[in-house]
Amino acid sequence: ATPNRIVASSEVEQTYIMIKPDGVQRGLVGEIISRFEKKGFLLKGLKLFQCPKDLAQEHYKDLKERPFFPNLIDYITSGPVVCMAWEGDGVVASARKLIGATNPLQAEPGTIRGDLAVQTGRNVVHGSDSPDNGKREIEGELAQWESVQTPWLIE
Ligand code: UDP
Ligand code: MG
Repeated sequence: ATPNRIVASSEVEQTYIMIKPDGVQRGLVGEIISRFEKKGFLLKGLKLFQCPKDLAQEHYKDLKERPFFPNLIDYITSGPVVCMAWEGDGVVASARKLIGATNPLQAEPGTIRGDLAVQTGRNVVHGSDSPDNGKREIEGELAQWESVQTPWLIE
């Protein structure tokens, strides 16, 4: 990429990554952020946030008929979460690989869930499952910046 080229954010793939309340309580915020930083994606937004119940229900609305839904909403609203927007070509699928399988016992070693969690109901992190959901799940203003690393990451 040409370093000075201005690219509208809407053209670039973005994913919504959320460190769940167990990740915050267990002191895993730095560790989890580090994995995305070290991979080479671009951090576009970050906040610590107490998710209200209605927003949690909206975020997980596709799962509202599932038996675990009430527990899931209690879990996600049980303490602050860390909300992040990460950007880069292929970031949605790559972040899902870095996160690992939904059930941490099935997640590969080396993935966040594979290394740091044991139960589906306490699986420490969320990642968008499609670029469209990435856009839908990110809200608020994102930082417009270019990392000095970009020319060393992208040919
Ligand atoms: N979940 C759960 N029990 C289940 C399936 C899912 O508690 O049997 C929770 C879990 O926290 C999971 C979230 O619901 O991360 C969303 O489920 P999804 O199938 O979208 O998994 P993900 O995309 O997070 O891997
Ligand atoms: Mg999902």
